[in-house]
Amino acid sequence: MAKLYDVIIIGSGPAGYTAAIYAARANLSVLMLQGYHVGGQLMLTSDVENYPGFEEGILGPPMMEKFEAQARRFGTEVIPEDVISVDFSKRPFTVITDSGEYQARAVIISTGASAKWLGLPSEQRLQGRGVSACATCDGFFFKNKDVAVIGGGDTAMEEAIFLTRYTNHVTVIHRRDTLRASKIMQDRAFKNPKISFIWDTEITEVLGENEVTGLRLHNVKTDEESILPVQGFFLAIGHKPNTDLFKGILEMDKVGYIVPVEHTMTNIPGIFAAGDVTDHRYRQAVTAAGDGCRAAIDAERWLESLGEE
Ligand code: NAP
Repeated sequence: MAKLYDVIIIGSGPAGYTAAIYAARANLSVLMLQGYHVGGQLMLTSDVENYPGFEEGILGPPMMEKFEAQARRFGTEVIPEDVISVDFSKRPFTVITDSGEYQARAVIISTGASAKWLGLPSEQRLQGRGVSACATCDGFFFKNKDVAVIGGGDTAMEEAIFLTRYTNHVTVIHRRDTLRASKIMQDRAFKNPKISFIWDTEITEVLGENEVTGLRLHNVKTDEESILPVQGFFLAIGHKPNTDLFKGILEMDKVGYIVPVEHTMTNIPGIFAAGDVTDHRYRQAVTAAGDGCRAAIDAERWLESLGEE
């Protein structure tokens, strides 16, 4: 028979771990199904400089190790597997992974969001051969090379700045002529002598047989085509929520972000959602962590309200 927990947490980013710390510390039995990509998006981040308590900044991966250690300290069990299906139609709720079936009186969903891709066939073909959505993971492989970053947001600036540590030159390609990134990140990128910008431009093809050799560009204002020779191509064009598993079950907006109906509780009583999976506006580690805390408190109070039911 499936083991029964008070709370199952799906996802292992700041929201999930914070929910685990709060729920386990409240003496609830907690299982976290971490996903195969343990640690979430912060595993793909370099310096985190804006999380309070780390005055010198901290790298994403060691930060997530600290989160996990703190969650385990209070008794959270963790399994590094993806959830493949859920049954929220009756209580206790059932959650199934590759290795087993688990049951819970309450579930907190903190599956986060994933990087978006352009959807070009050439981009898919050359993934891992010069095309990447993670400068922190792959930047090291581009020592003294020329690379391009696509996007105009904070992530694009962060990735471009990070890549200058290794590469010869970084070209940021943006589809408009103004950036969406915060002023401080824009200023840092503009000041960096290794970074240049191409405006009003989209990428129509990633060139190269077995590895990236360049990008075919299209200027959306002049209609001109050109080729930019680069050996690396980094995507930084935003994210999509990881909610496919819950389609048709939980209320979502048109993009797929879960819409909680009462504080962090979803349209199904006992199922809560926290972090980037519900948040297309702030998307910060600290806001996700705060949200995880709220979800754990909501779950705890909801379980208490059930009494011995
Ligand atoms: P974002 O703010 O949504 O920016 C995405 C960028 O990609 C935009 O410039 C967008 O262009 C462009 N884009 C989207 N789809 C595209 C497509 N199909 N083709 C070409 N370009 C495309 O995403 P983000 O940069 O990942 O940031 C997400 C959130 O995290 C933001 O709130 C950000 O402030 C935050 N963040 C903060 C930090 C930090 O403070 N250190 C670091 C990273 C992220 P348009 O501008 O034309 O829409």
